[in-house]
Amino acid sequence: MKKAPLDSHTFRKTNLMTINKGGRMFDEYECTTCGMKGRRYGVSNYATVANTYSDNLVNNCRLPKTDNYIGRLIKIQQCNASNPAFANLTNKSMHRIIKPPEGYANGGNGVWVQGIGEPVKVLNNEFIYLKRHKLSNDPPSQKS
Ligand SMILES: [Zn+2]
Repeated sequence: MKKAPLDSHTFRKTNLMTINKGGRMFDEYECTTCGMKGRRYGVSNYATVANTYSDNLVNNCRLPKTDNYIGRLIKIQQCNASNPAFANLTNKSMHRIIKPPEGYANGGNGVWVQGIGEPVKVLNNEFIYLKRHKLSNDPPSQKS
């Protein structure tokens, strides 16, 4: 396990009551910036996090690259993909960028949106970005 200093992340406690497992008391924390999850035992000044986090991220909180994209609305200009998963991507349909499947990223040559039954990647020349909306402000979806 690795130790993530509390003051190097924007950790917030996610449990209401301190958890007691086998006599060890801890609180669960999640960083609202990078999403790192960990446990804080007692009043230590660090959160214990999984070894799968890189040392660099553990000590230097940063926004995941894809977070600049997730939630943004796009409007399809043209989509020529023939895969049935793209059937809901029609001319002028609007879609919200979602978290890409494991191992993929938004950005580069395109972004990920929800297709029929699975996430699909729309290429940069197939869409335009719309103004950023809050999720609670969702415009009605445009069905053609
Ligand atoms: Zn963080």
